[in-house]
Amino acid sequence: MGALNADAHLYDVVVIGAGPVGLATAVGLRSRGITNIAVLERARSFRQVGQVLDILPNGLRALKYLDPQAHQAILEPTAPAGPPRPASQWFYRDLQGQPIRSVSMDSEDWLEKYGEGRNSLSWFNVQTRLRELLPQEDIWVNHRCINLKAEADYVEIDCVSNTTEERNPYAHWATPAPEVAETASPATLENKQLRAKLVVAADGINSTVRQWLHPEGSGFVQATPVYSGFVAFLCMDVGELPEALWAELSEQYFQGQPIVTVCQDAEPHEAALSLDAPTGRSRIMMFRRGNSCGYIVHAPISLEVLQGKSGAASIDLAVQQLEQAGFSDCIKQFVGLAPPEQFTQRPYYMHPVDLEGNTAAWSSGKVVLVGDAAHGMPPFLAQGVNQGFEDAAVVVAGIERIRQQGLWGDEGAIASQFQQYEQLRRPVMARVQKLTLTEKARWSDEQSEDYNQWVFCRDLVRDLEVF
Ligand SMILES: Cc1cc2nc3c(=O)[nH]c(=O)nc-3n(C[C@H](O)[C@H](O)[C@H](O)COP(=O)(O)OP(=O)(O)OC[C@H]3O[C@@H](n4cnc5c(N)ncnc54)[C@H](O)[C@@H]3O)c2cc1C
Repeated sequence: MGALNADAHLYDVVVIGAGPVGLATAVGLRSRGITNIAVLERARSFRQVGQVLDILPNGLRALKYLDPQAHQAILEPTAPAGPPRPASQWFYRDLQGQPIRSVSMDSEDWLEKYGEGRNSLSWFNVQTRLRELLPQEDIWVNHRCINLKAEADYVEIDCVSNTTEERNPYAHWATPAPEVAETASPATLENKQLRAKLVVAADGINSTVRQWLHPEGSGFVQATPVYSGFVAFLCMDVGELPEALWAELSEQYFQGQPIVTVCQDAEPHEAALSLDAPTGRSRIMMFRRGNSCGYIVHAPISLEVLQGKSGAASIDLAVQQLEQAGFSDCIKQFVGLAPPEQFTQRPYYMHPVDLEGNTAAWSSGKVVLVGDAAHGMPPFLAQGVNQGFEDAAVVVAGIERIRQQGLWGDEGAIASQFQQYEQLRRPVMARVQKLTLTEKARWSDEQSEDYNQWVFCRDLVRDLEVF
């Protein structure tokens, strides 16, 4: 890891945030010979945190463009090689247990249909696999960016280390135990400045850099994330289930599969953004691993109702929500059995990408936002990190052009590359976000296939050639 003391070194690129998108950007830069880089990460160490991410064909295609080794590393199965397992299907069912739709979880099926496979990995595994492709000294942990200053020839980045590690309510899950707040007296804080010709900000949905780009009073309403209208209630392990309850769940819903999503009945419609009284529908994903079962409920609930609730009160709220939505007694009983210490509640925030009106730009001068910092959203289409990898590919292509043409000092050329990146990516993100807030399980077969073809089969490399 990098040392803490300042030097006057001028980096070509500093990436802020060692999450999946920041690391993919750094890997892509390195593979193009842009090695004078540093990745700053506010966490004090790399820990087993985060949700499971589905890495899908468009994300894999972007990774292949960034560095074939990254593509290979992310595709690597987690389980040891053994006899092939039967292809599993993820079923979406209605309240009675009738199938609405099913999705293959078999990478080979995806490869055949969309030209790339899929893999499911924890956030930490994605981070680790990408991190291992970079020299350790490129990654500076315990460096939280707190401010930037744009100078004529470079950007100065203010960092602070050994600070209180506050829990980020907008980023990944903090399970099984919430992060412990670590405190440090001001005397133990260390400040450091770094200089970079370009800054790529991949610091997640609660981005410090985004807030620096669009400070309060600048007229943009979107510097900080807005509530999406949906909350997740999660329990990774409900514990031992009464036999009769498991028999009912198994017969009516699981039907031999390890994972199932049960959706509220209603006519399809779109949820709006930032709803005071959300109008979307509830669903529950239930999963079984060995002898343990868990769930994620996604429900439209206003923030006011959530406020101040945790533990048992939050479990009651989840059960009430399912009751109102007409879910069966066995599902409500299953949700209510969660031990409070295994239960997490998490409102989903987003940065709405609007194609019209007063939208916050993704770059200014030598500083550009990527991933959740630009367009965070709820995970209903499993596209957050996949779209972030696409951002990384486009930004890396732009930086490679700047390097090849010797334009590091040309502010106009840099701004133009970053604006072109946004022009290419913003319409895609606007569509993905809009669809994310609709209920995919209720799309028609035609809508579903149109979406799959569009999102998974877009030719990113061709797009990059014309941009
Ligand atoms: C429950 C859930 C399930 C999801 N499932 C999927 C899925 O299946 N597929 C999918 O594509 N996406 C999924 N997502 C979304 C996905 O997790 C995000 O889109 C993705 O992690 C964004 O990556 P990122 O690198 O932009 O930001 P992050 O993953 O948030 O990483 C940001 C990094 O920056 C660091 N950082 C933050 N602030 C600073 C600072 N000031 N200075 C230095 N470092 C800083 C953070 O510590 C972190 O390491 C899911 C999200 C959730 C919540």
